[in-house]
Amino acid sequence: NRQIVIAELPTDALGPDHFTMTEAATPEPGAGEVQLRVILMSIDAANRSWMKGATYRAAVQKGDAMPTYAICEVMQSNSPKLSPGDIVAAEATWSEVITMPAHKVMKMPKVETLSHLMSVYGIAGKTAYHGLMSIGQPVAGETVLVSAAAGSVGGYVGQIAKALGCRVVGIAGGAEKCAWVTDHLGFDACLDYRAPGFFKALRSACPDGVDVYFDNVGGTVLEMALNVMNERGRVICCGAISQYDTENPTGPRNLPGVVVVKRLKMEGFIVMDFAHNDAKCLRAMQHWVGTGQIKVTEDIVDGLENAPQALIGLLAGDNKGKRMVRVSSD
Ligand code: NDP
Repeated sequence: NRQIVIAELPTDALGPDHFTMTEAATPEPGAGEVQLRVILMSIDAANRSWMKGATYRAAVQKGDAMPTYAICEVMQSNSPKLSPGDIVAAEATWSEVITMPAHKVMKMPKVETLSHLMSVYGIAGKTAYHGLMSIGQPVAGETVLVSAAAGSVGGYVGQIAKALGCRVVGIAGGAEKCAWVTDHLGFDACLDYRAPGFFKALRSACPDGVDVYFDNVGGTVLEMALNVMNERGRVICCGAISQYDTENPTGPRNLPGVVVVKRLKMEGFIVMDFAHNDAKCLRAMQHWVGTGQIKVTEDIVDGLENAPQALIGLLAGDNKGKRMVRVSSD
């Protein structure tokens, strides 16, 4: 059973030397436990933030196997609730096989494409839907701005807002990604935050200002987004990827003044907070996928051994859509 553990915690940018591949024992399942074969592992910006300290979960320590949300197949079961062959979602680790209590895994419905349980019907789609609908509450005709727009969450945010009849503007790194966001995902505009003149371009892409900003990045991009918000705008604080992989993060300098003057609402959330609305989210996403208003965007990297580079690359922006690692076949 191969497993990837943290060899050293990073003090600045994450690199391959912070990980090591080990051979771990595979405990036989005890009473009430199941043994799972890992099929797909979610690669999340959050993996890096867990290496910095405690967040909404305990910090990842040196010597730990990297935790991950995973889609797995039940191999052995000592629980009446699960049988070999069942597909489940689990809080696993970067491993080929894991043994855990059956009550901690969730049986998944039968779907044609397993990876959709990770992308559009999984963490990415749910984060986009719940954050936008519950906190942003966009209304047709409003302008919705979203950062990390070519990423997994951002891509779905923009497509949902478009389906709701909003004007949608994305922010992403590089001209090629921005072109993909408009041409493939159908955003009205997408701006390169690394290009000179970004703020001017942002202003002209949002002639009526911004009513809802879905923030995936924090930092100076958040600062500029706040400056184009309309009065009583809503800012959804989903994540702060610009802060995760550096020891010298730069934050918005206009807080809290701009929030006061513009009467903005800024609210953070964790996707699990809205689990009670998951069924509604699933129905809506299935509907939009069916009508073609939402395109499923996935970025699948093959092989457990490539998980560290998949995470390092995600932080550097080499993904389009939901990044995951395929550990074994469906
Ligand atoms: P994505 O698929 O969105 O990939 C991350 C993207 O972030 C990269 O592709 C890169 O694109 C962009 N990025 C990297 N560094 C910077 C930077 N310094 N400034 C601006 N953009 C940057 O990853 P995830 O879907 O995993 O995460 C997106 C965000 O959503 C994260 O902040 C994450 O923490 C958050 N999240 C929050 C959840 C919640 O429950 N609140 C749940 C899941 C995710 P580019 O080339 O455009 O720079």
